[in-house]
Amino acid sequence: MKITDIFKETKRTFSFEFFPPKNLNAAVRFGINAGQLMKLNPSFVTGTYGAGGSTHEKTFDMVDLFNNSLNFTCMPHYTCVNATEEKIAYDMRVLKDNNIENIMLLRGDPPKDNPEALKNADGFNYASDLIQFVKKYYDHFAIGAAAYPEKHPEARSMDEDIRNLKYKVDSGVDFLVTQMFFDNDHYYRFLEKTQKAGINCRIIPAIMPITNYKQIKKFADISGAHIPESLQRRMEANLGRPNELYKIGLDFAIKQAHDLLENGAPGLHFYTLNKCRAAVDLYESLADDYKEIRKNYEKSFSPHMPF
Ligand SMILES: Cc1cc2nc3c(=O)[nH]c(=O)nc-3n(C[C@H](O)[C@H](O)[C@H](O)COP(=O)(O)OP(=O)(O)OC[C@H]3O[C@@H](n4cnc5c(N)ncnc54)[C@H](O)[C@@H]3O)c2cc1C
Repeated sequence: MKITDIFKETKRTFSFEFFPPKNLNAAVRFGINAGQLMKLNPSFVTGTYGAGGSTHEKTFDMVDLFNNSLNFTCMPHYTCVNATEEKIAYDMRVLKDNNIENIMLLRGDPPKDNPEALKNADGFNYASDLIQFVKKYYDHFAIGAAAYPEKHPEARSMDEDIRNLKYKVDSGVDFLVTQMFFDNDHYYRFLEKTQKAGINCRIIPAIMPITNYKQIKKFADISGAHIPESLQRRMEANLGRPNELYKIGLDFAIKQAHDLLENGAPGLHFYTLNKCRAAVDLYESLADDYKEIRKNYEKSFSPHMPF
């Protein structure tokens, strides 16, 4: 099903993001965690695409499993850094032939040892180039793209980033999913600016419960997302106490999620990091207040998995 058709049925979507497991050991853990999460009946799931296309086959396999064996609406991510027009055209055909109806189109980042890869020989220099190409030749997918409430790290200013975002959306984007953020004011200010710029599609906020402080601090630093000082202090004071850290991270995410939904966010996208505990706990805490979640959650007790 197209995610744009899901939007016609519901004001809010609740989605989970997974990355393809690297090896057999990770695949077993992935199966256990994803199994718990899929029982919550998310509106859709997404599959990340390793830097520079490094997980190409595994990402395509994972979305095939979700979409065609487990019957969940699924959206692979896809990047154009390093890709040729021929390869992109081929991949779009493969996805279309495999009944994939949604795609998140991104520029991607160059590998650390080859920053020159950003200069794409076939002219796919920005996500908007990829979006225009897919829209023109494969007008079959509902198209998602990325948005940055604290601005993309390469952009010189928020205004410049919003101008580029407007161009990207006008290239054929149906909806946006944000980079993680930990202070909702960034998202609310961003919405004001995007509305002023005439960007009218859904901008789904992404949420990442901090369960592994050091790991998420590293992601946040790379992506330019700021963790509030007070939260950093509390986490750093509890570094040797995993249960306490988990509770602090979960409580923070629960408050953040409630505030977003109370203020009209069109749903939540969970960066699961392939782990189920925090997302299940967060989902349960929202189920009392949000009927879309309660409905999914109640349905979750009927078996959905075909195996
Ligand atoms: C929700 C989400 C999911 C992601 N999933 C993945 C993934 O699966 N795999 C992965 O490798 N990466 C992923 N990323 C990371 C993403 O690839 C990087 O952030 C990358 O640096 C930018 O990709 P983009 O599609 O946002 O780029 P773009 O939209 O092309 O923007 C990149 C930069 O170029 C500027 N820009 C855009 N258009 C123009 C223009 N026409 N002229 C001048 N400047 C311009 C923008 O302001 C911005 O600074 C994800 C990010 C998000 C937020």
